Amino acid sequence: MEVTLQNLTKKFPARGRKNREDVIAVNDFSYKIPDGKLIGLLGPSGCGKSTTLNLISGLLKPTGGRILFGEDDVTGLPPENRGIGLVFQNYALYPHLTVRQNILFPLQNLKGKDKLSRAAMLEKADEAARLVQIDELMDRKPGELSGGQQQRVAIARALVKMPRVLLLDEPLSNLDARLRLQTREEIRRIQRETGITTIFVTHDQEEAMSISDEIVVMKEGVVQQIGRPQEVYDNPVNLFVAKFLGTPPINVFDGEIRDGRLYIGKDEVLSVKGVSDQTVYAGVRPEGFVLHKDGPLCCALSGVEVMGRDISVVSRHEASLNPAVRAIIGTENSVDTGSALVRFALKPGKVFLFNKETGERVRGQANEGEELLRP
Ligand code: ADP
Ligand code: MG
Repeated sequence: MEVTLQNLTKKFPARGRKNREDVIAVNDFSYKIPDGKLIGLLGPSGCGKSTTLNLISGLLKPTGGRILFGEDDVTGLPPENRGIGLVFQNYALYPHLTVRQNILFPLQNLKGKDKLSRAAMLEKADEAARLVQIDELMDRKPGELSGGQQQRVAIARALVKMPRVLLLDEPLSNLDARLRLQTREEIRRIQRETGITTIFVTHDQEEAMSISDEIVVMKEGVVQQIGRPQEVYDNPVNLFVAKFLGTPPINVFDGEIRDGRLYIGKDEVLSVKGVSDQTVYAGVRPEGFVLHKDGPLCCALSGVEVMGRDISVVSRHEASLNPAVRAIIGTENSVDTGSALVRFALKPGKVFLFNKETGERVRGQANEGEELLRP
């Protein structure tokens, strides 16, 4: 089911003396969510993710704009008539009911022509339970399950009616790290198997990046960028998006463009075509550093962290906005930890320039200048 958001807006009225201004929790959000895809709705706490999801589910009414499921305008429909499945962070299972009864619950409320026989309901519940691999646990109560198992029950309950759209609001946040990893793979698998258009809300960029066909990055109610995870990572439209994606985070420096050269502090690090002289923020992805004994970016070495798969070189630079500069390099490199300085060349494709006032990306063609060293 394709889901279309048209200029979707939600204002919450100002309340009390302290909050004099309306909160625009979702601000003019337009997006055609492709059929059968998993979309990650991503952004820091308070950016409007849950509000967006609740507008799509019908739990909230928009202040403006429309929502379509396929050709169907659902903007005025109550949640129960939209054909959605909802999963929240806190599972929200009925504690006194068994797993089976919990999963059956949405089916028992079906009325009129949708009403099912007991046998048909049980079959659907079994099917949903098998899909999330909890069919062995059907007679237990939620209190007798681990967090991960409880969340699977919640997902089965959301799937049992085969919803047109599946909406998940931070479904993994209550799970420990290992379960989070495992359950997100599960969600991906279930989504692929069922082909249900799914919107997955999270504040965790890695989670969103790892399972989404497309991510939507939001900030203060406003969509910043939509695209395939790799696309957005490789081509952020502004400093906010660049900083929000990636671990370790992007390294941000005070930079300056002069005569087609990028300077970080006094270090002339790259040649840049098509950008007029100006001060900029220069963002360098951790994997954008190349260790080189004559590299143009000269940093004070703080330490080296061996992480097995690669090495993290921690250093300082007077133009760095991050307290530490973090470079990730391959284990084939060896860093002289006795040295006070470490020098890097930069990979042009991993360096982004941003306007200092607006944070918008400054587009230009970064090149390693002929006179600058190639790694
Ligand atoms: P997120 O899910 O991204 O953390 P929310 O969608 O919950 O963010 O909230 C977005 C903004 O709207 C926040 O500033 C929040 O305080 C505000 N907000 C959310 N729900 C309400 C409400 N019922 N009344 C007033 N303000 C709200
Ligand atoms: Mg939320």
